[in-house]
Amino acid sequence: AKYHGRNVYRFYTPDMNREVEQRLRLERELRLALQNHEFELYYQTQLDMQTGRVVGIEALLRWNHPERGLVPPNEFIPAAEDSGLIVPIGQWVLRAACQQAKNLYKAQFKHVKVSINVSARQLSDRDFVSDFKAVVRDTGVEPEQLVLEVTESTLMADTQVALAHLHALRTLGVGLAIDDFGTGYSSLSYLKRLPVTCLKVDRSFVQHLPADDEDRAITTLIVAMANSLNYRVVVEGVETEPQWAFLRECGCHFGQGYYFSYPVPVEQLMVGLLEAQKR
Ligand code: C2E
Ligand code: CA
Ligand code: CA
Ligand code: CA
Repeated sequence: AKYHGRNVYRFYTPDMNREVEQRLRLERELRLALQNHEFELYYQTQLDMQTGRVVGIEALLRWNHPERGLVPPNEFIPAAEDSGLIVPIGQWVLRAACQQAKNLYKAQFKHVKVSINVSARQLSDRDFVSDFKAVVRDTGVEPEQLVLEVTESTLMADTQVALAHLHALRTLGVGLAIDDFGTGYSSLSYLKRLPVTCLKVDRSFVQHLPADDEDRAITTLIVAMANSLNYRVVVEGVETEPQWAFLRECGCHFGQGYYFSYPVPVEQLMVGLLEAQKR
């Protein structure tokens, strides 16, 4: 930092300059990525843990960067959110995922729901509902086959607009999942204000199962609450057989995680679904 008289430092360093430059470059690249079709959706299955049947898939965004290879969302979504680029990127995601849902429908997998992650910025965009309706019309997808995944922090940042949008989509038949459930600092009162259909229990509660007493108590409680509210519960990040066995025992019906399958490109997803069907 530069010294500007007694006790006055300017909080500006060459390091910060580099950070700003990196952020600007990232934004430029993201804009190009959209034009150059560098985005791709991977899909991870959600299973009925009692029967092993696939009940849903979650669309997870990937960026095929020309030099850096496959870039995970945590490395670019924050920049996309800050710059507002998440709105056009999110529109692309929505369209691609709806197209995929329609393909599943045509391939006799109409019972497989397609979950789509939506961030706060997108949800409070003025045109969110009309854009959504246009995508439904263009792709011919059944809104009942879709689930929007929204995090608790998204809902905390909520505006009346975002709330109204969620109600409008629910009226169309779209499901609403609260993502990373249990990690936000909000009260449970938002569950009453929102047309919730599903809770996704965050991976952090599953990681140390079944050994950890507290995590056992917390997951059991969330599952019981969700069951009595008639929400679907999907537990995230199931990685091991003992985790799966414990969750099944405590009445959790649905799970997602590396133990069942990794997120995969669409071709691989279809191969897996067709194989599972034969079994
Ligand atoms: P998320 O919605 O909580 O998605 C679950 C993340 O956990 C995914 O990471 C998934 O690959 C990973 N995961 C799944 N099973 C396991 C497991 O058993 N163990 C572990 N350790 N991880 C597991 P991914 O694909 O890197 O996505 C990270 C986050 O980026 C997502 O978290 C979501 O918040 C965001 N994201 C992804 N796609 C989109 C999108 O299209 N739009 C928006 N707005 N956000 C997205
Ligand atoms: Ca999610
Ligand atoms: Ca999650
Ligand atoms: Ca998460």
